[in-house]
Amino acid sequence: MGGTAMTQTSPATQTRTPLIAGNWKMNLDHLQSIAFVQKLAWSLADSKHDYATVEVAVFPPFTDLRSVQTLVTADNLKLGYGGQDVSQHSSGAFTGEISGAFLSALGCRYAIVGHSERRTLHGESDAVVGAKVQAAHRHGVVPVLCIGETTEDLEQHGPSAVPVAQLRAALEGVDAAKGLVVAYEPVWAIGSGQAATPEQAEQVCAALRAVVVELYSSELAQTTRILYGGSVKSGNIAAFMREPNIDGALVGGASLDIDEFAKIVRYQKHIGV
Ligand code: PEP
Repeated sequence: MGGTAMTQTSPATQTRTPLIAGNWKMNLDHLQSIAFVQKLAWSLADSKHDYATVEVAVFPPFTDLRSVQTLVTADNLKLGYGGQDVSQHSSGAFTGEISGAFLSALGCRYAIVGHSERRTLHGESDAVVGAKVQAAHRHGVVPVLCIGETTEDLEQHGPSAVPVAQLRAALEGVDAAKGLVVAYEPVWAIGSGQAATPEQAEQVCAALRAVVVELYSSELAQTTRILYGGSVKSGNIAAFMREPNIDGALVGGASLDIDEFAKIVRYQKHIGV
């Protein structure tokens, strides 16, 4: 597992390091990314943020990654970063694709895989998503595997069935011991302002952890971080983080506002742990 993942059974007896991850999507060019990361790092330093207690990672556009790497290295920042996608292939005639080898060479700790926008706008199937998980592993990058149901899925199958099926499909043939972060992101909650309830998210995340137990082992399930994503804000993060099977958040819109994202990272101030 990349970073410092451990196990978390409850906020009080935390044993998995929570991860707050910001997915910038197609926002901020390389110059803006430098200013943004600098200000975010200052803001977290001002509040004496302990990255060993809550890990922080950003997912800028590919064209920003070299700039972010240079800044992180020069200033010895503890902030992690990763790609928003990774090719299932390692090299070759795949115009526009980005190899995990290139992400790895830029110091990426993570790559988002199977985000719902990639699945719906770029037609990524579970098989392609699974191949991308394996590609990330080949290059020493930890995949942040996104899964989640649509409104129709929810109405037809209830909350857990589709995310559980997506997780099973993506993990076929995957050696998860190489490291995996799962992000449960209900499609209806992404960018809608309508987050899942913490109870609902917990129910699904618990079901996802049970899949990891079944496919691998309870030891691996205890060290696998499962994030919630979908309209996370500073006002609702603490309630999600109180749930025993939610180990962090994948944040879209709110990750583009430095003050708001820093407040999300510092959720323990609201949760009182
Ligand atoms: C996302 O796109 O991964 C996401 C969670 O977006 P938002 O936080 O804006 O709902």
